[in-house]
Amino acid sequence: PRALSARHLERLNETQRRAVETTDGPVLVLAGAGTGKTRVLTTRLGHILLSGKAHPQEILAVTFTNKAAREMKERVADLVGRPVEGWWIGTFHALAARVLRRHADLVGLKSNFTILDTDDQNRLIKELLPAQGIDSQRWPPKVVGGVLQRWKDRALGPEKVTGAEGSDIAEGRVVALYRAYQERLKQLNAADFGDLLLHCVTIFQAAPDVLARYQERFRYILVDEYQDTNVAQYLWLRLLAQKHKNICCVGDDDQSIYSWRGAEVGNILRFEKDFPGAVIIRLERNYRSTPHILAAASGLIAHNQGRLGKTLWTDLDGGEKVRVRGVWDSPQEARAIGDEMETLHRRGDPLSSMAVLVRTGAQTRELEECLITMGIAYRVVGGLRFYERQEIRDVVAYLRVIAQPDDDLAFMRIVNLPKRGLGEASLRDVHLYARAQGISLYRAAGRLVETDELRPAARRALGALIAHFEAWRGRSAEIKLAELLDQVLNGSGYLQMWREDKALDAPGRVENLKELTVGIEPFETLEMFLEHVALVMENETASEDDKVTLMTLHGAKGLEFDTVFMPGWEEGLFPHQRALDETGTRGLEEERRLAYVGLTRARQRAVILFAANRRIFGQWKSALPSRFLEELPGEHVERIVETGLYGNAGINAGSGGPGVPVAFPARLRAAPRTGQEASRRRTQGADDDAPFGVGVRVFHQKFGYGRVRAVDGDKLEIAFDKAGVKKVMTSFIRPADA
Ligand code: ATP
Ligand code: MG
Repeated sequence: PRALSARHLERLNETQRRAVETTDGPVLVLAGAGTGKTRVLTTRLGHILLSGKAHPQEILAVTFTNKAAREMKERVADLVGRPVEGWWIGTFHALAARVLRRHADLVGLKSNFTILDTDDQNRLIKELLPAQGIDSQRWPPKVVGGVLQRWKDRALGPEKVTGAEGSDIAEGRVVALYRAYQERLKQLNAADFGDLLLHCVTIFQAAPDVLARYQERFRYILVDEYQDTNVAQYLWLRLLAQKHKNICCVGDDDQSIYSWRGAEVGNILRFEKDFPGAVIIRLERNYRSTPHILAAASGLIAHNQGRLGKTLWTDLDGGEKVRVRGVWDSPQEARAIGDEMETLHRRGDPLSSMAVLVRTGAQTRELEECLITMGIAYRVVGGLRFYERQEIRDVVAYLRVIAQPDDDLAFMRIVNLPKRGLGEASLRDVHLYARAQGISLYRAAGRLVETDELRPAARRALGALIAHFEAWRGRSAEIKLAELLDQVLNGSGYLQMWREDKALDAPGRVENLKELTVGIEPFETLEMFLEHVALVMENETASEDDKVTLMTLHGAKGLEFDTVFMPGWEEGLFPHQRALDETGTRGLEEERRLAYVGLTRARQRAVILFAANRRIFGQWKSALPSRFLEELPGEHVERIVETGLYGNAGINAGSGGPGVPVAFPARLRAAPRTGQEASRRRTQGADDDAPFGVGVRVFHQKFGYGRVRAVDGDKLEIAFDKAGVKKVMTSFIRPADA
């Protein structure tokens, strides 16, 4: 077996080998992206086994995702030449649950306890709020749930939360609620995600004999993506490692991107304190990316303060510069990505070697439709495809009922969504009546609300809903689809429901709904749109193996692709508005780390895109290039920016050179405009055959109607009817009669 091990060691550089061979004692591998941290960890596991230092059951290996755990199992199985069933390789949650099942009685649970998801958790909290005198309007269950979760992330059980900590939440009553909540979970024989680690830590601290057994057992502990551990996870590890102290953590402070979930990068700094004599190993050679990509990423992250700092170099040479591409609008952005994918694919690159990494899930909609049109197979990793997402399905159900009132499935989906106080009894009446009359639920409901069959509250609610549907249907032929959708979203209360929702994923859902209003715009009739959705959904079942990957930047941690596309590098999108709204630079720095993670996923090619115009809720909004573009070192970046995207406002997308020429881009001027294309395209663009000479009447999105008074290149002085005299850019106006 030793020979096998030696062979695998040969595939490592000297420093990596040291990290693998320093099996005993605490080791911290602190190194940048692509330096082989994960490879070191996997090889180390194999090495420990093959050198006979421990049995498989005596090693604990923690990964950040279940997928990473599977991969590690596969690689280790490969290294040692046998399957790795029943080993302690998994995420913190999976491993902690496994420990907890064995000792559940020590925290008042049975070993078959249920693990609650966030929905259950919030329902439970909601039940408990009144008894604690907490107003659920002011303190929605989700907010309170979030507070409890953060405490659990910090390993603070109800008994450890001081009055001071909870004092600003619900007048300090939240601590009592926390206690009641934990009590109730116990009665239900249930645990939430945070409990998995919290209970383990509690058990370890209260039952030294149990802890001792595990300490004895886990001779070796290995942890990947260490920078994203929270306090509870950290304590859990520290307790387990206390006996043998053979703990090896690998991480990169620059890739800490989960502080919003309680991760504390400070755990890296504590490591040396908690494990005196820890060997710190820094890997500096990057094996993943070309020099340009590496230099661009390093230059970007250098703008963060308070980093531990590290050098990265590579032996690879040549390669393309990082490409930054500025385009007119988001459809063009999607098209540019699709086109290049096609070119690369024709040249022989498998689709699976390419990925698009987005900042927010809503960004995939435009891309998905473009890829479908172009016939490029894709998969969305770590999330659903756009039209599969819950909120999109819900709204599509509304639209289906408008188009086709007899669609019972669609009707049932939304009849009480958002909640309208329709009880089961009322809905059962509707069902019974529909069946008896042989008519659809919608029609049955329509007739029932004209009678006294239903209870008054249900009757009112259902009557209002039917009236809404009738009105929407009546208008559907006259108004634009985007407008219809807008009325549905607002009139139904559905959008409001998500706006008020305090769950972490709620803002993303609102973004998806906004995105749907953009997606629906090009269609002429509701039927055409619904058919499109049905086809897109069907397209998804096509079983193609070679696919491009669409995923969020957060989901891409630890992965690598030959070619990485990153669209939407615009202020407000990336860095995200939420980070910009924060005081201080914490949020912004985390966004920058996210950009660093994105860039360093690329092996050969990184393409960053931004659009000058993007639609939000059907409205064209102009967007400024992300500040991160300015921060990329110019010598490693090739910029292909359509000229004139921003007029001559002096915005140069960070070229470091002079501003881009002011002429309106020839390519755009020459672009053919079919009827639909033109209306799809914009309400803002200048048009070739409509020069804005003095005296011409124009329309500006912000200032409304006016008349041109003076022309200076593409700067115009306009006397607006309402807004007075303003200087504006031609690209933001259109002829008044267009
Ligand atoms: P990240 O910070 O992104 O998680 P990492 O430090 O974990 O990156 P790995 O994913 O382990 O890096 O390695 C990056 C790439 O470099 C992988 O393709 C890996 O196989 C390769 N690699 C690592 N070490 C070596 C080596 N000594 N020789 C050749 N290739 C290597
Ligand atoms: Mg890794």
